[in-house]
Amino acid sequence: MVKSQGHAYLQIRDVVKDFGGVKAVNHVSLDIQKGEIFALLGSSGCGKTTLLRMLGGFDLPTSGSIVLDGKDLSNLPPYERPINMMFQSYALFPHLSVWDNIAFGLRRDGMSSDSVAQRVEEMLKLVQLSKFAKRKPHQMSGGQQQRVALARSLAKRPNLLLLDEPLGALDKKLREETQLELVNIIEEVGVTCVMVTHDQEEAMTMASRIAIMSEGRLLQVGAPGEIYETPSTRFVADFIGNVNLIAGTLDEDHPDHVVIRCQDMTHYVGHGITGHQGMEVSVALRPEKIRLSRQEPTGQHNKVQGKVRELSYFGSYTVYHLQLGSGQVIKVSQINAERHPEDVLTWDDLAWAHWSDSAQVVLTQ
Ligand code: ATP
Repeated sequence: MVKSQGHAYLQIRDVVKDFGGVKAVNHVSLDIQKGEIFALLGSSGCGKTTLLRMLGGFDLPTSGSIVLDGKDLSNLPPYERPINMMFQSYALFPHLSVWDNIAFGLRRDGMSSDSVAQRVEEMLKLVQLSKFAKRKPHQMSGGQQQRVALARSLAKRPNLLLLDEPLGALDKKLREETQLELVNIIEEVGVTCVMVTHDQEEAMTMASRIAIMSEGRLLQVGAPGEIYETPSTRFVADFIGNVNLIAGTLDEDHPDHVVIRCQDMTHYVGHGITGHQGMEVSVALRPEKIRLSRQEPTGQHNKVQGKVRELSYFGSYTVYHLQLGSGQVIKVSQINAERHPEDVLTWDDLAWAHWSDSAQVVLTQ
């Protein structure tokens, strides 16, 4: 559960990390609320791991500050922060049992053996591994090892949990199963969590909010649905999910709508666009928001005819590649159960693609 208070629980203020002239993190500010699962998402080299490492104290910022629950952590070493980081490799001790792996940090902190036992049992129950307490890590599956690592990270009841590509070592199917398991455990404990991933599906499934990073900067911060539905730049639109980006120019600028002319079609946009005539824009159109039909739809805008060049059947839906007059190919995804029998298309069929004006987002950068 996310509690929103006056001041954010974790405040990242204008943080910069300069590695000999390379700004791995470039003036990043973020507010993260208590109990939130927050994902830093971006491709390799965007700076997400460096930002996470600064939260953990493994790297110190060149400038800026990191405040957790009102306390400035910027210059505290990792062991003095109420934070735990789970590394991608899990870093479990191979010679220790699951029980001893979880107990390790508690014993090192001088906790009494009764309290250690109680806490370890509680953690084993939480990750549903009580029956595996005596096993060594190599006697467990990847998913189980991941849960041991999580139990160990949570054992000291950190205020902030940092996850570095938490499911990166698992294969795709196991990763999908484990995503929700992990979210349930984190939510049950109520710990605030910042995770790093390059996998957009993982971020969308697990996080309450996502920050998209590129070249050390934040491009957009928002809930998964918000970023998907209203990306602020072409980069974000393309990075999250599939999208058709269609280049055009702004042709008319009425108080309540604009018309955008593209090589193959005109778009009518009835909301929130301002700009000058002739301005170059891109229209972002998600494949599942386009409908296909053999008959030309009524209405002047938001439709285009093309030829089916490719189709891929995925059981519940089909993805069509429709080639337009200019040669541009757009992707259209149709739910098979919703298709009208006469609109079931095959290779080389001519078809009309059409969509509502609210289906499209106009991007200027
Ligand atoms: P990946 O997903 O590949 O781990 P990332 O998005 O997490 O990538 P970072 O590891 O944060 O990216 O790296 C950001 C940039 O900073 C990269 O250009 C990287 O080469 C550079 N960098 C990271 N650590 C160091 C370091 N210790 N010394 C010098 N440059 C570094």
